[in-house]
Amino acid sequence: MRVAVASGKGGTGKTMVSASLTAVWDGPVTAVDLDVEEPNLHLFLHPIVEETRTAHLEVPVVDETRCTYCRECAELCQYKAIAVLGEVVMTFPEMCHGCGGCFAVCPENAISAGSRPLGEVVRGKAGTAGFWMGRLRVGEAMSPPLMREVLRDLDAAAPEGDVIIDAPPGVSCPAVSAVIESDVIVLVTEPTPFGTFDLRLAYKAFLPLNKPMGVVVNRSGLGDEEVYRFCKESGLPILCEIPFERSIAEVYAEGQIVSVQLPEIQPLFRKLRRAVHALARTGKEAAHA
Ligand code: SF4
Ligand code: SF4
Repeated sequence: MRVAVASGKGGTGKTMVSASLTAVWDGPVTAVDLDVEEPNLHLFLHPIVEETRTAHLEVPVVDETRCTYCRECAELCQYKAIAVLGEVVMTFPEMCHGCGGCFAVCPENAISAGSRPLGEVVRGKAGTAGFWMGRLRVGEAMSPPLMREVLRDLDAAAPEGDVIIDAPPGVSCPAVSAVIESDVIVLVTEPTPFGTFDLRLAYKAFLPLNKPMGVVVNRSGLGDEEVYRFCKESGLPILCEIPFERSIAEVYAEGQIVSVQLPEIQPLFRKLRRAVHALARTGKEAAHA
């Protein structure tokens, strides 16, 4: 099973939930930090790094001795990463998404593959759990290609057991890329107007993916009831509520795992684990109905 822990809004406690859920998971599990712009799951899981590799994106390099300036590549590229001006071909590697389209359409085979470094793919062990992380290169704007590299390496390694993904916050391309291959989406929110607003956005963005979704209300007791009303109206099950307590904030601020350090809170994450399993079963049943 692949569980994506996501949130429409940053700062709701998504990484706290990912780390705590990993720590109480039953059976083999791998934690994956796909928040590649600002990965921080490692600060809580303290993995021993076993391998780090630089991931690259294939970008076009044009051999102008073969080019006939037909413009087919420039007309195809939706990202304006390649342009033909008279008898000059210009490429803009930092704007290339690596789709490979220009390579395929060039009738003269004038385009070969160069590369642009995207960032690092890190693999390791956090206690008994596997650990993977992407870390975007400073100055690199596009995170989905690096996220795909992390998931490709993970799939190639085929670790035993389940996978818990700490997804990037928000509802744009990186967030969708992180949850699209998951079996279950756990949306972490807080009972505030901002939390509810962004939960609505996340729900709308992920609904077309047709995956079972459930909600973790973090800092419950902090704000208003609107988030509960929205979940009820939308049929979103509340999997777990984590109270608004100073001890949780303190443990988190110290870089420790809440479900490990606070025995009184641990049952909530065990309950969340059971709820996630149950949610996954509903998804399987729906798929076979
Ligand atoms: S690989 Fe795709 S995105 Fe990059 S320049 Fe070619 S067509 Fe554009
Ligand atoms: S498609 Fe090939 S031949 Fe045509 S302009 Fe682009 S690089 Fe040159």
